Amino acid sequence: MTYTSLLSKESTEYQFDIKIAHLYGNLMNTYGDNGNVLMLKYVAEKLGAKVQVDIVSIDDQLNPDEYDIIFFGGGQDFEQTVVAKDLPSKKEAIAHYIDDQKVILAICGGFQLLGQYYIQANGEKINGIGVMGHYTLNQDNNRYIGDIKIHNKEFNETYYGFENHQGRTFLSSDEKPLGNVIYGNGNNKEDQTEGVHYKNVFGSYFHGPILSRNVNLAYRLVTTALHLKYGENIKLAAYEDILSQEKPEEYRDIKQKAEFE
Ligand code: GLN
Repeated sequence: MTYTSLLSKESTEYQFDIKIAHLYGNLMNTYGDNGNVLMLKYVAEKLGAKVQVDIVSIDDQLNPDEYDIIFFGGGQDFEQTVVAKDLPSKKEAIAHYIDDQKVILAICGGFQLLGQYYIQANGEKINGIGVMGHYTLNQDNNRYIGDIKIHNKEFNETYYGFENHQGRTFLSSDEKPLGNVIYGNGNNKEDQTEGVHYKNVFGSYFHGPILSRNVNLAYRLVTTALHLKYGENIKLAAYEDILSQEKPEEYRDIKQKAEFE
């Protein structure tokens, strides 16, 4: 089902097309996670891409070649059990999509379900789709709730968010974290990892939503998807030129000074 309210305005200015699948968007959308879809659209349009967003949910077929970005949001344990029953029907499509290096953003419950399994707060186990190696344990009568800050060494980027989860996730040896915890709990409070980065799958426990607080990550996801679709040689506007307002204060100061000199 296409979100008609989220279609890009008709214009001849667009050079590119981006199609986003919001996986189980009618069931997995806790704590404002839908804002991530709005951010992907905002950044894609700034980069000259016309956007279409489809909800792909229970009993819908997922055609991996049709989409450039998949967003899989968070959910309560109950919704996760519903979704877990349908996910095997999409396993092959998602595995194929990931192997093609295509972009996924998965938050919290969505991140958990891409992995091996998730133990709910009540101790019951839900099978994940198993396309990635991580697994998620439960904890006794506790949740990790609060502000969190992480740093990604590879990109030299810092991300801010708000976490709210009971699951404790452990990454497999072929998975990197989205970042190392500066403050907050992260995946499990033990190993200072937060989220996952595997091929072009980005997973995280950050709500907030993650992309509206971390426009640098939104830019990374959309530019990765555009380069994959249209080739490495396409010219895309620089982050500083289209999203500079979202830059931290000190950066803006430096840029303004440079312009006056
Ligand atoms: N139900 C899962 C947990 O509590 C995921 C929560 C979420 O997606 N916000 O860990």
